[in-house]
Amino acid sequence: MDDCIFCKIAQKKITADFLYESDSVIAFPDIHPLADIHILIVPKVHIGALTDLAREHGELLVEIYNVASQIVREKGLEKNSYRVVVNGGKAQKVPHLHFHLLGGKWRKQV
Ligand code: 5GP
Ligand code: ZN
Repeated sequence: MDDCIFCKIAQKKITADFLYESDSVIAFPDIHPLADIHILIVPKVHIGALTDLAREHGELLVEIYNVASQIVREKGLEKNSYRVVVNGGKAQKVPHLHFHLLGGKWRKQV
């Protein structure tokens, strides 16, 4: 998708500090963190929103949650606090599906 920020990050036209990259998924810190740890986990393929997910995305979703789990363990969040959030509708500012992983203390609602 032209003009999609997360497609551009996936294509490395905009830089981000990748914690994880595979053929299908990237993870990088949110530019405006709302928690001690605020990572975005994003499919490389352009999927607009949660409601655009289909059965064929099953493997992709497993990978996304595996990446979340890996980061939770790496950051020691099991003994702290964490949550995974997907915004939609008016709450979603970037129209490319992404999963917020928030850890430690969070400042306000994502
Ligand atoms: P949404 O409200 O769509 O769920 O959240 C989009 C998130 O993307 C926001 O938390 C925002 O700070 C983050 N974001 C927007 N543009 C960029 C960017 O260019 N780089 C990074 N790392 N994060 C971004
Ligand atoms: Zn996109």
